Amino acid sequence: MDGSPAVASRRGSEFDLVIVGGGSAGFAAAIKGAELGARVALVEGGTLGGTCVNVGCVPSKTLIRAAEAQHRRAHHGFEGIPTTDGRPDWSTVRAQKDELVAELRQAKYWGVLRSYESITLFEQRAAVTSGRTVRLGDGRTLSAGKVIVTTGASPWAPPIPGLAEVGYLDNASVMALDRLPASMIVVGGSAVGLELAQMFARLGVRVTVLEALPRVVPAEDAEIGEALGAFLAAEGLDVHAGVSIEQVARTGGGYTVRFQKDGRDQTAVAEQLLVATGRRANTRGFGLEDSGVTLGKKGEIVVNEFLQTANPGIYAAGDVIGDPMFVYVAAYGGSVAAENALSGNARRYDLTGLPKVTFTDPAVASVGLTEDQARAAGIQPLVSTLPLEHVPRSLAARDTRGFVKLVADTATRKIIGAHILAAEAGEMIAEPALAIRFGLTIEDLTGTFHPYLTLSEGIKLAAQTFDRDVSKLSCCAA
Ligand SMILES: Cc1cc2nc3c(=O)[nH]c(=O)nc-3n(C[C@H](O)[C@H](O)[C@H](O)COP(=O)(O)OP(=O)(O)OC[C@H]3O[C@@H](n4cnc5c(N)ncnc54)[C@H](O)[C@@H]3O)c2cc1C
Repeated sequence: MDGSPAVASRRGSEFDLVIVGGGSAGFAAAIKGAELGARVALVEGGTLGGTCVNVGCVPSKTLIRAAEAQHRRAHHGFEGIPTTDGRPDWSTVRAQKDELVAELRQAKYWGVLRSYESITLFEQRAAVTSGRTVRLGDGRTLSAGKVIVTTGASPWAPPIPGLAEVGYLDNASVMALDRLPASMIVVGGSAVGLELAQMFARLGVRVTVLEALPRVVPAEDAEIGEALGAFLAAEGLDVHAGVSIEQVARTGGGYTVRFQKDGRDQTAVAEQLLVATGRRANTRGFGLEDSGVTLGKKGEIVVNEFLQTANPGIYAAGDVIGDPMFVYVAAYGGSVAAENALSGNARRYDLTGLPKVTFTDPAVASVGLTEDQARAAGIQPLVSTLPLEHVPRSLAARDTRGFVKLVADTATRKIIGAHILAAEAGEMIAEPALAIRFGLTIEDLTGTFHPYLTLSEGIKLAAQTFDRDVSKLSCCAA
């Protein structure tokens, strides 16, 4: 492809792009590079596919569904439908999860790779030696027009006294346990910690959650955090927010965690300990420090709006550039980085209207600004909150836990935020995300058909709640 951007960037190198890290960001970068006519080297030092398919999104979401099926046997809200008892068979559930992971890794990573002839995979750890060369574990050096770093992130634990010495589970090891423990302490009440905490609780594990900030899902709207904490407690989880952990120790066959809450000393004891207190970028130990790349406070690679690092020959994308750490952000970033590396900084990395989901039950989904963030940004917010008892779908499903909160700009009536706590809230959030990205107004939402009875009708009802009392409306909220 003479004259193509890829060939222009190659300048005598063996590859146009060398991508370090074969997770979702790396794959998206490799595919975009191949589509642009580039010769691409993809270097993966661990398991192909990275975090999401192997130890993140995929295994956690299928286990959450399995745990939900177990929970619904006895908790479905319908009189006349028998509830059934019985312990889950964890080793079968886990094996089914492993099968799905293996299938998807094969189909979406190995299989996809085979369909791009211009991508060469190197299954080795790599070190970045400059903006134009990468050294492989076996000593070979790959020369590149441009390098893209997509090395992801790893679980991070705070410096709690005793923690490093006693050892603990992380997201990967907890989902691979040989057997279900009787009890588990989960340190960290954000998405990963809460999803796993509820999943194990529903499989019969006695779970204690310890969160340092004043409520669970602390990055979300405050009312959502309060309400979700209460729903989890009602389900039997022992949820403590606003704690300060003083000491972790091994006692008998398990763990003892001493913590302070409301000025009082308390103790939690359990057979297993899971630490889910965030993830930090993988940027150490493979040459980045000496390659002119700047690292931020948490070790993440600092990039400009084109995902280019301080070394113009090196781009970066995915979890390695820090928050927000989601797989769809990683994949988008990989594609943007490859295009910019090959074609010369033409595509801006734009996260406007980025939705996020916590897969608890009820789930949390949000996009845009909270009421307080709007005020801080100098916007006078209009807020509408619709409890789910006004949503026919929730009534029919006999599950009215949660609410839909919409935030609009008083001056323009444009939607600027949505914060949802509902069963399957993740299935509802794309509509407000679209509204925010394309500047839609309250009237655009109320004037759009929403099928009866769906949960997404809750978005229309919440939009109507800005101006009307929906309890006085009849069917279909016309
Ligand atoms: C439990 C859990 C659940 C999650 N659930 C969701 C979800 O439901 N939805 C969602 O959007 N996101 C979810 N995430 C986040 C999501 O998994 C990540 O945002 C995403 O996988 C990041 O992709 P990445 O390509 O940036 O990094 P990774 O997928 O981590 O890939 C990085 C790759 O680089 C390799 N590597 C590192 N250093 C080197 C080196 N020096 N040489 C060669 N290779 C190297 C690693 O082996 C790894 O394979 C979840 C995460 C966790 C932990």
